[in-house]
Amino acid sequence: MKVLFVSPEVAPFAKTGGLADVTGAMPKELDKLGVEVKIMMPGYSIIDKNKFKIKKIKGDFSVYVGGKSKSGTISKCKIGRKIEVIFVNNKEYFDRDGLYGDKNGDYPDNLQRFTFFCKGILEVLKVIGWKPDIIHCHDWQVGLVPAYLKTIYRSDTFYQNISSVFTIHNMAHQGNFTTDLYYIIGLGWEEFVFDKIEFHGKFSLIKAGIVYSNIITTVSESYSREIQTSEFGFGLEGVLKWRSDDLYGIVNGIDYNVWSPGKDGYIEHKYNLKTIKNKAANKRKLLEICGLAIDKDLEVPLIGFISRLAEQKGLDLIEECIEELMGFELQLVVLGTGEEKYETMLKSICEKYPKKISLNLKFDEELAHLIYAGSDMFLMPSKFEPCGLGQLISLKYGTVPIVHKTGGLADTIEEFDLDENSGNGFVFESYLSIELISTIERALSLYKDKKAWKTLVSNCMKSDFSWKASGKKYIELYEK
Ligand code: ADP
Repeated sequence: MKVLFVSPEVAPFAKTGGLADVTGAMPKELDKLGVEVKIMMPGYSIIDKNKFKIKKIKGDFSVYVGGKSKSGTISKCKIGRKIEVIFVNNKEYFDRDGLYGDKNGDYPDNLQRFTFFCKGILEVLKVIGWKPDIIHCHDWQVGLVPAYLKTIYRSDTFYQNISSVFTIHNMAHQGNFTTDLYYIIGLGWEEFVFDKIEFHGKFSLIKAGIVYSNIITTVSESYSREIQTSEFGFGLEGVLKWRSDDLYGIVNGIDYNVWSPGKDGYIEHKYNLKTIKNKAANKRKLLEICGLAIDKDLEVPLIGFISRLAEQKGLDLIEECIEELMGFELQLVVLGTGEEKYETMLKSICEKYPKKISLNLKFDEELAHLIYAGSDMFLMPSKFEPCGLGQLISLKYGTVPIVHKTGGLADTIEEFDLDENSGNGFVFESYLSIELISTIERALSLYKDKKAWKTLVSNCMKSDFSWKASGKKYIELYEK
C-alpha cells in the first residue's frame, strides 16, 4: 500500500505544535508496518537545508493560483529508514520567517500559499511518477486536496482511484475565507453550496477536507464525539454528524526515539525508571537556567507549562487563579508564545514573583525537553484538547500531568488512586478555576508522600503511548 502524507508542518523540519510531531512520527510507524509512505510539505526557507541534507531534484512545475500561473521547484531528503520527504518550493509563498503568520497575525495571502501547495502536491506526484493509493491530509491547509481530487483533477486518469483521508487536528482552526477570494482556489461555483465548500456565506477549507475526503479522522475518540456537538464543532457539527459513519477517532502516539529521558539528546542527565534519581539533576539545571530559587533538597514542587498561550489551553483559568497559586509552596516554569493579553498577564505575575515563576516567551525545543525532564508536574488545563501531546510526553519523563477532563486528555490521563494503584495523573471535570486549584492542591499534597509519589511516577513512565497501536488502526482504515 502506498500512502502520501501531506501537512503544512512536519517535525523536525518546521513545527508550531503537535501537528508536526504527529506528521513526523506516524509515517515511521507505518513504514515499519509495511506501508510505502512519502511525505510532502511546503519548502519553507526557515528549514535548515544543510542539516537535513535537502537536495533539489529535477522537475519544475506550475499551477494556477487566482488565475495566474505560479511555478514551483521540488527538493527532497529522507527521514527514518527510507521515508522520502518532498518539499514543494516557491520563494514568493514560503520564503518567510513564520509558517502561517507573524506578530501582526496570519499572512494575508495564506489562501494563495496553501492553494499553491495543494495543487503543487498533485502536480509533483505526476512529476515524480509516483501514484499513491491514499493521500492522507492533515488540517485545513491541505483541505483542498480531497476537493481537487473530486473536481478539477477527476478527469485525469493519473488521479483516478486515489482516495483521501482527512485528519482534523483542531476544529478551532478552519481556514475560512470570504467569497471575493473564491476565484483564487479555482473551483467552480457549483461547489459553492451548503453541502460542499460554502460555509455561512464564506468558504471553508476544513469543510472541504471533511466533505470531499473518503474518510475523516480526528486525534482521539472523545474528540470525535465532542466535535459533533455545538460546543466543540465550531459550526461544523452538522456536517460532521452527517459524515459520522466515516468519522473515526484514533489517539495520537508519540515518537519515543525523540521523547525518552533515557536517550534524549537535549538533556545532559539521562534517566529511566530504574535511574529516576537522575531526574533531580535536570530539575536543578532547569531551576538554575530559569533563575528560580533553589532549595537544598529540591523539595519545592516544580510545575512545567509548555503551550501556545491561547484560551484553548486554559489560560483564562490560570489567569483567574494565578495569584492564589503563588501563595502555595510551588514553582512554575512557563514556555510559550501566543496572545498578547496572556503574555502581559504572565509578565506582570512574573515580575511580582521572580523566584517562583519563570516566564520564557519563545519557541525553544531544547528548553522544552529540559522542562519535561526537570519538572515534577505538568500543567495542561485545556478548555478543549483534540489529543494533546504535552501530557503524553510528560508521562514518559515521569512528570505527572494535571489536566482538565476533555478530548484526548480524558482518553489518556486517569486520576491516580493510591488504594488501587491505578491512574497516571490528576484530573478535574468542571472547567472552573476552583476545580483547577483543588486539583493542584491534591497533587501538592500527594507529592509530600514520597512513597506514593514514586508509585505514581512509575505508573506515568509505564504508560505506553507509542505509535504501535494507533498505527495499526490507521492501516485498518486505509484498507477500508
Ligand atoms: P497544540 O495544540 O499546540 O498542537 P499539543 O499538546 O498537541 O498542542 O502539542 C504541542 C507540541 O508543541 C508539543 O510537542 C510541545 O512540547 C510543543 N511546544 C508548544 N509550545 C512550545 C514552545 N514554546 N517551545 C517548544 N515547544 C513547544
